[in-house]
Amino acid sequence: MLKPAGSLCNMRCQYCYYLEKGQMYKEDKNRVISDSMLETFIKNYIESQTLPQVLFTWHGGETLMRPVSFYKRALELQRYYAGGRQIDNCIQTNGTLITGEWCKFFKENNFLVGVSIDGPQEFHDEYRKTASGGPSFQKVMKGIQLLNKYGVEWNALAVVNDFNADYPLDFYHFFKEIGCHFIQFTPIVERKVSRTDGLTLAPGMEEGGELLDFSVTPEQWGNFLCEIFDEWVRNDVGDYYIQLFDATLANWVGQVPGVCTMAEECGHAGVMEYNGDVYSCDHFVFPEYRLGNLGERSLYELMNSEKQKEFAKNKKKRLPQQCQECEFLFACHGECPKNRFVKDEYGNPGLNYLCKGYKMFFDHVAPYMDFMKAEFLAERAPANIMAYLKNHKIE
Ligand code: SF4
Ligand code: SF4
Repeated sequence: MLKPAGSLCNMRCQYCYYLEKGQMYKEDKNRVISDSMLETFIKNYIESQTLPQVLFTWHGGETLMRPVSFYKRALELQRYYAGGRQIDNCIQTNGTLITGEWCKFFKENNFLVGVSIDGPQEFHDEYRKTASGGPSFQKVMKGIQLLNKYGVEWNALAVVNDFNADYPLDFYHFFKEIGCHFIQFTPIVERKVSRTDGLTLAPGMEEGGELLDFSVTPEQWGNFLCEIFDEWVRNDVGDYYIQLFDATLANWVGQVPGVCTMAEECGHAGVMEYNGDVYSCDHFVFPEYRLGNLGERSLYELMNSEKQKEFAKNKKKRLPQQCQECEFLFACHGECPKNRFVKDEYGNPGLNYLCKGYKMFFDHVAPYMDFMKAEFLAERAPANIMAYLKNHKIE
């Protein structure tokens, strides 16, 4: 993940975990990547991959704070260093700065665009504010309409918080109505802590701090997932792709899930800041998780360093006893270490704050997952479950 404009953003979403990262670079006036660092990164990144396809992920802050010409230059460098490999690009944006010019560029260059949108207007505008504190929903929808008009492939990243979590079906129907077939739900959990470096949000794997109001509760999260799952499993399997449901099925059948939070180990979600600083993960951009700088060591060395290997393994190594004994460990893997800050039932540290919600979800979906697994293993479509459920009940 590359942050070409660091934490720079035109919005002030109240639960943004990244905006305050600017504190770590406050001495720098110009916090955007230089042309030489861009070139070093592209060359290094391509060289560090072992597969014939290379995927670049552009992330922020707000990625569209850099002009189209910046990304044109990046594509030029990608072509120059590709060495016969196929290069793909995906870009995450808040959607408010999308114009026809951006859409033409995305379409021509096959970008996959991830748009942050938290459901219908009353949900979205609750926390996603412009820099002047105003609503942003209309601007995002204008951006989405443009993406549709130009035929750009896009998907939604929706944050589930204390407010919208109580309306799962309204939330889900909204995405279906706007024709979004790929949705990623992210539960928001943040804690305020006191640090000496100017950062105010807590890294994971440490207890303490004050849970911020917008955080979703474990019960809300579990209920949210179960309600949407009930509609999805009866009507939408194979048509609407919900990342967590897909990852759950992948774990059920013993495949690698498409999202790191549900995987056994971390380690593949490194982040590079505008100045070449590389961190273990987007959710661990803290001085103590800095791996080094691309100006000093190659990306391959940084991502294969002992520090990063330890970070990757800690996801499994630090599972508390309750997780180790859990019947759903194979599907959950203790979820993201960022959210592991409560004690388990034996009093051990490191249980995921959302555990109760995940248990509720896995318990609820288990018989459906068993059915879809059987279909999958028999080389039939898991989507057959929808026809089955028309005449049968699954308990
Ligand atoms: S810390 Fe969380 S977000 Fe980061 S790689 Fe691990 S599971 Fe993924
Ligand atoms: S459901 Fe809870 S106990 Fe089970 S693996 Fe996940 S976090 Fe651990």
